[in-house]
Amino acid sequence: MKKSKSSHQWLKNHEDDEYVKRARAEGYRSRASYKLLEIDARFNLLKPGATVIDLGAAPGGWCQVVIEKIGSQGTLIGIDLLEMEPIPGVTFIQGDFTEAEPFEQLLASLDGRPVDLVFSDMAPNLSGVKNIDQPRAAHLVELSIDFADQVLRPGGGLVCKCFEGDGIQEIRQQYRARYGAVVNFKPKASRDKSRELYLVGQSFSGKSVSRIENR
Ligand code: SAM
Repeated sequence: MKKSKSSHQWLKNHEDDEYVKRARAEGYRSRASYKLLEIDARFNLLKPGATVIDLGAAPGGWCQVVIEKIGSQGTLIGIDLLEMEPIPGVTFIQGDFTEAEPFEQLLASLDGRPVDLVFSDMAPNLSGVKNIDQPRAAHLVELSIDFADQVLRPGGGLVCKCFEGDGIQEIRQQYRARYGAVVNFKPKASRDKSRELYLVGQSFSGKSVSRIENR
């Protein structure tokens, strides 16, 4: 009884949500598109012809925005655990980014091409238990930082969804060791009560931390 009442309330909140309505009217697959539109309006990341990786891409709201901005000369590769309806111009890999095979597939799709931007909107399935969810989310960000170390061109950028809480300071330090400019950004489209924020790193130094530590 309690559960059906709360799922009814969730559905009502969802239906009343300004960004859900806008996404339907404007043809975006998810309200998440507006988060990326805000990030890009503030940081001016997406340029025609860019090469972009979208980690946690389904259902495709960010991919739609990226493709609009990078155009037909750009390259976009997305990965997600879930299926995604095809989007023209997007190479999609269905698999777990934390596992070796999909990860290798992602690298193979790049074929050595230097990447301008790595985006991660990945979020683990939430258990509701903070001590479990927070480290899982932080782990996905750390793997995204490592991946960006391997593929980004010097000067490139990394945007990751993070959650305020344990581990976030360490993640900020990892960003600062690699990126010339690091900003915490909470888009208006991100729900107020959510601890979600995006860490935006620009001007990648081109040096992974192991190389920095060995200097
Ligand atoms: N940015 C997307 C959009 O605009 O439509 C929404 C992304 S949704 C908030 C988070 C996604 O991360 C989910 O689709 C989930 O399946 C994916 N995800 C979580 N862990 C993952 C993993 N280990 N590998 C690949 N995808 C993952």
